[in-house]
Amino acid sequence: MDIDTECPSCGSRSLLTEGPTHPLMPSSPGCWAIFGELLAREFSDPAYFPLHQLTVDSYAASHPGKPERRATQATGLHLMTLQLFVERGIDARAGPTLHKRMVRHRPSCAGSSRRHCAAG
Ligand SMILES: [Zn+2]
Repeated sequence: MDIDTECPSCGSRSLLTEGPTHPLMPSSPGCWAIFGELLAREFSDPAYFPLHQLTVDSYAASHPGKPERRATQATGLHLMTLQLFVERGIDARAGPTLHKRMVRHRPSCAGSSRRHCAAG
């Protein structure tokens, strides 16, 4: 009998019960392995690579990690990028440039006691 596991973040199911996962994006080993296979496909077949940023943003947004400042900012960045892809038809290849623009305008927490600047 096969034993499957459920990813704690996205709920996907797989038969792989042991293996590496990302330290900041909680997942089951099977979910992380499938994501790795998809990335390998994108890097080995030029026909898939234009969608690479969409893949990364989708995976990261569905595996947000602990609710702390850095993870929240990163998840927000991925979700904003996905919104531009889905609702505005932005080319996924523009993703890295969009990320740089968004990060440039993030609020600074240096010396701040604001709640959204809590350690993390
Ligand atoms: Zn997952």
